[in-house]
Amino acid sequence: MDTSLKNRLTTLIYDEYRKLKPSSRPVVKSNGTKEWTVLASIVAWNTETDHLRLITLSTGVKALPDILLLKSGGNMIHDCHAEILSIRGLNTVILNHIKNIEQGRLSDLLDKDNSKYTWKSENKIILYISRMPCGDASMDTMEDQKDPASKFEINDNDPSQYLFEGNTTILRGRLNFSKKGYVRSKPGRYDSQITLSKSCSDKLCMKQVTSLLNSITYDLLNRPVYIDYLLIPSLERTDFNGIERCFKTRLNNKYQESDIHRPVFFVVETCDNQFIDDKKNDDETPSAMSSIKLYYDKSNTQEQAILNGVKNGSYTKGSKPLPKGCEPAVSRLGQWKLYKEIDQNVTGSYLEFKGKQVARREMIGIVRQMLSFDGWIHTRKDDCKS
Ligand SMILES: [Zn+2]
Repeated sequence: MDTSLKNRLTTLIYDEYRKLKPSSRPVVKSNGTKEWTVLASIVAWNTETDHLRLITLSTGVKALPDILLLKSGGNMIHDCHAEILSIRGLNTVILNHIKNIEQGRLSDLLDKDNSKYTWKSENKIILYISRMPCGDASMDTMEDQKDPASKFEINDNDPSQYLFEGNTTILRGRLNFSKKGYVRSKPGRYDSQITLSKSCSDKLCMKQVTSLLNSITYDLLNRPVYIDYLLIPSLERTDFNGIERCFKTRLNNKYQESDIHRPVFFVVETCDNQFIDDKKNDDETPSAMSSIKLYYDKSNTQEQAILNGVKNGSYTKGSKPLPKGCEPAVSRLGQWKLYKEIDQNVTGSYLEFKGKQVARREMIGIVRQMLSFDGWIHTRKDDCKS
């Protein structure tokens, strides 16, 4: 990727960020504290025309405590870290395009090929993230070592470093900084309610095998869609060490030539232009708001601010049920509803549908085993029946 392409990319992404509604962006609080967030974007780079086509723009640094998923019913987004929202967004855009193709419209991203769809191969996928993904890749990042959790001395025998006692290959957040190459849960304050969501490093690492497609889109396309480039501003040499270990070494030695689902490694690039609302100093506070903007086509976009996993303003406290229509377009329920418009013969719930995907489940199981020898810790089941 040359410098002029990187400049065009960051100009496009930052210009679009400035167009987001003020409610979708960090604010300066009434006490004067400035909020910060992470920005992510998925862009298709057409290598034949050199055209850059924005697909998603997202912000966010929050993940829900596992216990809150009890009343989700597919409405709530568990993991609102920006890069994860963008990946969800890509899947929603793909579902929208398939629906349109079925209604006789053209798509600039997909072709129809007999009964399945193909991602147009001239569209290379670039995932931009404004800072290093949380988890293993960023364990070498000097700035993140300022995190209070890293000053917290942890003895290697201390069970509190683990997400679950008995599983010594999944660590809790940033605890025990010296351990490298481990699966970690999303970082958070040590006294906060526990989230079982895995770090963005672990999720991106897995996507190199499973692809960006989720359980709903995986069978609709005849080939998986991988990240071609990961672009992160201001990377230093130590960051590249973490990147190499997290995204390559962890998988590379373990796959055989003959394995069918071998990893497809992305190329990591860096650039100078930093994101305006990145964290600049320790007085700043992370924004509770997340947001996603989907670019279905030139004249059709959709922007949603997300708070506590649902559309901003829809969250209900305690056991009070969530209101109808609170689900963001990129939520499980949002995507499931779109899928049911495409395949009107589908019966049963989302989890029943997912349970039938034996080959995909096996592929995921193999990567999880490679990343965490002691087994996997699952997040709470979250089904949608409607
Ligand atoms: Zn993250």
